[in-house]
Amino acid sequence: VIVLDLQSFTTVLLDMDGVIYRGPQLLAGAVELIAFFQHHGIRFACITNSSTRTPDEHATRLRRDGVFVHDQHIMTSAQATRQQLDAQWPPRTPIYALGTPALHTALFNDGVFVPDSQAPQVVVVGHSPQFSYEACCLAARAIIAGAAFIGTNPDVTVPATQGLVPECGALLAYLQAATGVAPTISGKPAPTMFHQALARCGGEPARTLVIGDRLDTDIAGARAAGLATALVLTGVTTPAMLAATALQPDQVFTDLPQLLMTWGLRDRPS
Ligand SMILES: [Mg+2]
Repeated sequence: VIVLDLQSFTTVLLDMDGVIYRGPQLLAGAVELIAFFQHHGIRFACITNSSTRTPDEHATRLRRDGVFVHDQHIMTSAQATRQQLDAQWPPRTPIYALGTPALHTALFNDGVFVPDSQAPQVVVVGHSPQFSYEACCLAARAIIAGAAFIGTNPDVTVPATQGLVPECGALLAYLQAATGVAPTISGKPAPTMFHQALARCGGEPARTLVIGDRLDTDIAGARAAGLATALVLTGVTTPAMLAATALQPDQVFTDLPQLLMTWGLRDRPS
């Protein structure tokens, strides 16, 4: 049963990990899907909760695998956080950032905001594979002193070669326990990132499809933003997980080749 009228969509927002690639591996249909969008003039943006790579690093890596995207097609939770800071804080605001070089690039590269570990007005926390106890102490002290506490994304784990490992959400929970302050979060499932990506593409919400692999971030967030949803089963969601939840996407596809076949077949005159 076809639930979605795929032909009606003129903009697509895609998650990356579990949709376009899984870990180091490009997923089947990714090259063809992006080529299909470009051929048919469908606007798209890749949106990821990860803050560990810059858009340019993502785009370079995808192009190396034959997926022809530019850095403007990529939005990370670090970009989403930066846009939120731009909207809410004046230039020269001192910010303490705990995260990867890609997060620091997003926040500080153009010199609008000022890195400050001593008396920041804002603490931004992203995935921090190299964080130190000392850095956590600086962040916690600033939050207790009244700095705004912002997390890039809520994911508590991320799949790695050896299995699940802690991600940003776990560090946010640690700092929340130490400070008694809950962070505000920029990444999915907050609708912010979907709205920002749509604004960047110039897409109409009613004609936008979100493709993701996670129910709690991609599907929940897209629905909160009022967008149509397609789930692919190439990432974290299994058929058993899908059967056990009330949160159902508009349509489920085994993988990108199935989605593309469904979309492409309807393209042909019958
Ligand atoms: Mg994903």
